[in-house]
Amino acid sequence: MDRRPFIKLGIFGLLAIKAKLSLADAWYQFNFSQSKQGYLNRIQTIKKSGILPIIDVESSYNPTHFDPEDFVRTMDRLGIAQSCLSLDSPRGGPTWSDAGNQLAIQFPAYFIPTGNGGIYPAWTSSPQKFLDENIRNIVQQKIPLMGEFEFRHYPSPRQVGGNTNRDVDIPLDGPLGHGLFAFSEKTGIPFQIHYEIEDGLLGPLEKMLSQYPNAKVIWCHFAQIRYSSRSSIYSPEYLGDLLDRHKNLYVDTAFGGPKSIYPLSGEPHARYWANQNAWNKLIISRPYRFLAALDLAGDRMGMFEGWTQRLREILNGLPEKTAEIVAYKAAWKILFNEDIA
Ligand SMILES: [Zn+2]
Repeated sequence: MDRRPFIKLGIFGLLAIKAKLSLADAWYQFNFSQSKQGYLNRIQTIKKSGILPIIDVESSYNPTHFDPEDFVRTMDRLGIAQSCLSLDSPRGGPTWSDAGNQLAIQFPAYFIPTGNGGIYPAWTSSPQKFLDENIRNIVQQKIPLMGEFEFRHYPSPRQVGGNTNRDVDIPLDGPLGHGLFAFSEKTGIPFQIHYEIEDGLLGPLEKMLSQYPNAKVIWCHFAQIRYSSRSSIYSPEYLGDLLDRHKNLYVDTAFGGPKSIYPLSGEPHARYWANQNAWNKLIISRPYRFLAALDLAGDRMGMFEGWTQRLREILNGLPEKTAEIVAYKAAWKILFNEDIA
């Protein structure tokens, strides 16, 4: 008896089951060509009202304490065109959550889907599982950006004297870093890292940028140095040189205000304010490498208005053309690989 038809049926059957399974898995898929017009309309509407539209490339939220209607109303009021809002995995919850997709479904013109935030507890307690799950879902759902992965993060100001679960130290050039950089290298999908600015951490970063020249890396908080004694190399000149040597590196503008002090060191959070002219010169010379960001999070949603004002102060200090690029054009380009008028 010729068994081949049965074998063929078996293979087709398996393929059909596989297709059905992957359809069920990928219940949501981001489609840029469908979302694009909505994004552009919002950008145009905000422009017409005389306000510079902003794409916030880096913020996060806690889905258990979040009012989406209130958030989008605030976006309207403050001229935030789109938000890349990554979800902070809830304590005791699953490694990956699709909750962020609901925002993009409910308010498609407001949100650019972003992977889950690589923070405590999901990332720090089972980092490989978190990375694998992120990669699987990012691919299946065609999500254009991966949220902030904390590699080196000091305790947050709100944790001083209390919890230390934001004190994260994962080698950037270890297996997890290689997994993340290699994924971005292969797919072109950008990812954000939180990586404190320290002399000893610059070498591994440069090594990874060289080894993965097509990985798109957004190094968050470009002027945030919390201990000057640990950072003697980083300066506008150094960053300019680094950006020239590594075309795959981007930075974002989320950092503390001029009066913000990091309580553990007693030093200013951000070095931008003390040397604004030099930093602005750097931004003007390489505007597409600087991305506007607010760094909102579940524990600081109340800062939305104040931090937007601070970001606008930075943008207002730049020439109009540069400000437009940093505010939304650079984000558009890195996320969607196209220029926006
Ligand atoms: Zn961060």
